Amino acid sequence: MLTVKGLSVSYDGIKALNDVSIGVAPGEIVTLIGANGAGKSTLLRAIVGLVPKAGGTIKLYEKDLQQLKTPEIIKQGISLVPETKDIFLSLTVKDNLKLGLFFNDNKAYHKDAYEGVFSLFPRLKEKEKQISGTLSGGQQQMLAIGRALMQKPKYLLLDEPSLGLSPKLTNELLEKISAINKEGTAILLVEQRAKLALKVASRGYVLGIGTIVRQGSSKELLQDELVKKIYFGA
Ligand code: ATP
Repeated sequence: MLTVKGLSVSYDGIKALNDVSIGVAPGEIVTLIGANGAGKSTLLRAIVGLVPKAGGTIKLYEKDLQQLKTPEIIKQGISLVPETKDIFLSLTVKDNLKLGLFFNDNKAYHKDAYEGVFSLFPRLKEKEKQISGTLSGGQQQMLAIGRALMQKPKYLLLDEPSLGLSPKLTNELLEKISAINKEGTAILLVEQRAKLALKVASRGYVLGIGTIVRQGSSKELLQDELVKKIYFGA
C-alpha cells in the first residue's frame, strides 16, 4: 500500500499542499483530478522525493519514503512519468528505454524488460532505432510510459498523460493504462480530463487548491454535484 498522510509542501514559504492524505492499494487505478495549479504534480513529485522536504508521511508499506533519495524510491518500485515527459529527443527510442534501466544492474533482467515494453507498445518496437524527436506526440507519450515501465514498477504515477493527445489517441492511451494495470501495476493517474480519468479508475480524489475536497468511488464522483459543476459544466 502506498500511503500519503497529512502531506504539506511549500515552495518558498507558499503552501502548495496542505494536509493531503491519499492511499493507493496494490493493483488499483486511482485518479487524482483537479484544476490547474491545484497541486497535482506537486503530490506526484513529493512521492518520488522531488520537492523540498515536506511535512506529513509518505510510506510504501512500512517503508518511510521521505527518508530515501529519488533513485532509492524508484528502486522500491515507484516510477513517475512527468507531465513534461522528459524524453531525450536526440536519442533513439531504444536508448530512451535503456535509460529506464539506469538503476538496475541485473543484465539478465534487461532483455525481459524490453520485451515487456515492446509487447505492450508494438509501435515502439517498429521504431526502436528511430530518433525520438521524430515520433508523434502520442508515440512520445507511449515512450515516456515505456521508459517508466522498464523498472517493472509496482506503482506507476502518470502526470496528465492525455495532455495534447487527440480523442482517438487518448482512448488508445486509456486502453494501455488498463492493460498495464491488468499486468499487476497499480496506477495513480493525474488528470484534468475528469470524466476520462473516472472511466478508467475505480476510485478518485479531487484536489482543490492544495487540499482534498472530495474522495470516493468513480461512480460516486461522477454523480457528485461539486464534481459535475466544476468539471462537467453541469
Ligand atoms: P497543472 O495542472 O497546471 O500542472 P498542478 O495541479 O499539477 O497544476 P502544481 O504544478 O503542483 O499544480 O502546482 C501547485 C502550486 O505550486 C502552483 O501554485 C504552482 O505555481 C506552485 N509551484 C509548483 N512548482 C513550483 C516550484 N518549483 N516553485 C515554486 N512554486 C511552484
